[in-house]
Amino acid sequence: MRLDQRPDLILLDIMAPSRKGLEICRRLKADEMTRSIPVILIADQDNAIDEACALRLGADDCFTPPFRLSVVEARIFNQLRIKSRNDLLERYANQDGLTGVANRRCFDLALDAEWRRAMRDKQQLALVMVDVDCFKQFNDVYGHGEGDHCLRRVAQTMADVLTRPGDLLARYGGEEFAAILPETDLEGALWLGERLRNAVMELHIPQQRPDHHQEVTISVGCASMHPGPNLTCDSLLQAADEQLYLAKQAGRNCVR
Ligand code: GH3
Ligand code: MG
Ligand code: MG
Repeated sequence: MRLDQRPDLILLDIMAPSRKGLEICRRLKADEMTRSIPVILIADQDNAIDEACALRLGADDCFTPPFRLSVVEARIFNQLRIKSRNDLLERYANQDGLTGVANRRCFDLALDAEWRRAMRDKQQLALVMVDVDCFKQFNDVYGHGEGDHCLRRVAQTMADVLTRPGDLLARYGGEEFAAILPETDLEGALWLGERLRNAVMELHIPQQRPDHHQEVTISVGCASMHPGPNLTCDSLLQAADEQLYLAKQAGRNCVR
């Protein structure tokens, strides 16, 4: 189930199929992907044991006979209201306020999860680190407000380059961004890095710079790894960071 295909609410018959409602509820609440979807169990009789069991398993509500339509509707509406408020809070918790892309907290959680997934599936995981070039100088010349506006445009442009549903672009901190690319080798990461660099150049944001570039550019460092026993996701971060350093050394506006 893709994230954007998750339902807003699940009404689950406690009896169906073959009295598996409680087990289905348990699994829905144990799975990170479905945990936040409100589950309402419907019991065919007023059975306190089933009802208590459902609530203990994480069901958000339990309907027992007699069913009165107006009450059922009101309780469903309540769950939908709680869900939409929780969705909003989740978005605030994971989104960078300035640029709208994922924030550092979201990045750290996603990198850890993708690293473990790559280890399980014996797949490569790639990381692309991006740093806006000479950005201190941009702020000094044009002011912090223009700097913020520039960061927003750069972030949005890079987010549009990432089209695979599993990829994630995050603001790593300040004027640094990072893209997590599951099941991607180094060649794929370098290819995406080039696309990011070109997309930012195509914005043609003017910048009077001390070097020969006269527009906003980014430097990009790429790495890809098969998670192994002597490696952690910090190894991947460090490898991408080293490549970013080399890109800066090579004169900026390039991919390493
Ligand atoms: P380099 O090419 O080596 O990366 O040089 P740089 O100037 O980009 O790097 P440095 O680390 O010296 O400066 C980063 C600048 O990014 C300094 C800081 O003011 C600016 N910056 C970080 N976060 C924000 C932000 O949210 N808004 C604005 N406007 N500027 C920011
Ligand atoms: Mg930096
Ligand atoms: Mg910089």
